[in-house]
Amino acid sequence: MKRTKFLSVAAACLLLSSLYSCKNSNTENAVENKTDISTSTLEKVKSLGFSTENIRKTSEGYLVEGDILLTEENLTEASSGAKLSIAETEQYRTTNVVTSLPRVITVSVTNLPQVYSDAVNTMISRYNSLGLRITFQRANAGTTGNINVVGFNEGPSGGFITLGSAGFPTSSGNPYNQIRMNTNSAAYGSNPNLLYLASVIQHEVGHCIGFRHTDYMNRAFSCGASGAGNEGASNVGAVLIPGTPSSPDAASFMLACSNGGNRTFNSNDVVALNYIY
Ligand SMILES: [Zn+2]
Repeated sequence: MKRTKFLSVAAACLLLSSLYSCKNSNTENAVENKTDISTSTLEKVKSLGFSTENIRKTSEGYLVEGDILLTEENLTEASSGAKLSIAETEQYRTTNVVTSLPRVITVSVTNLPQVYSDAVNTMISRYNSLGLRITFQRANAGTTGNINVVGFNEGPSGGFITLGSAGFPTSSGNPYNQIRMNTNSAAYGSNPNLLYLASVIQHEVGHCIGFRHTDYMNRAFSCGASGAGNEGASNVGAVLIPGTPSSPDAASFMLACSNGGNRTFNSNDVVALNYIY
């Protein structure tokens, strides 16, 4: 999940205006990032329907669309059947979801300040209050859960800051096993708000269990014009969840960009979660 950082761009423009136009320096950065990634990988990501704009290589795979990690498995997985063509802004899931229901998913927190751990507990109670066939609980102290929440420290880039990231379920029906949360003070301030953190973790858990962005067809809906772009159906799938609306859904927990505060499940999200789980 991302948040716009227009102030930092404005500041950068001010600093750079005598030397370069801001647009040029951003373009150069994007090109530089891409040179680390082979043309064949870029082609693969594109052919799966994801934008390669601002794609980044990480130790676990490739980060696309701000907060979605595509693993090597995602890149090599064969497409399972027909891709659905979807024209509106709705609730979507990936082809793979968590199986072996009912199921308890354990969550651990590694090397993060207490407020992140408290936020995980808030996320857990929000999901568990829905009475789904998946429930969440904290892993035993000192053990790594099915999903491990870890930190990273990264400042703003290109007008956006990454608040957190996660991947999609595996082909064997397990949730994605890691959520990364940004500890940089530009992300949540020096004294992070519990409900803001919980909302982002709730969103990243949504990816781990198979939710795509509600506005994946046009991220400008939540990210503004500079974040515009269609994430595409891809081989991880973008399957419309019956019973969710065909009009833009302004308060969904799975919008690509954060509103900078507390955002939990809206009624359509609850329909979608109940349909899958
Ligand atoms: Zn996301």
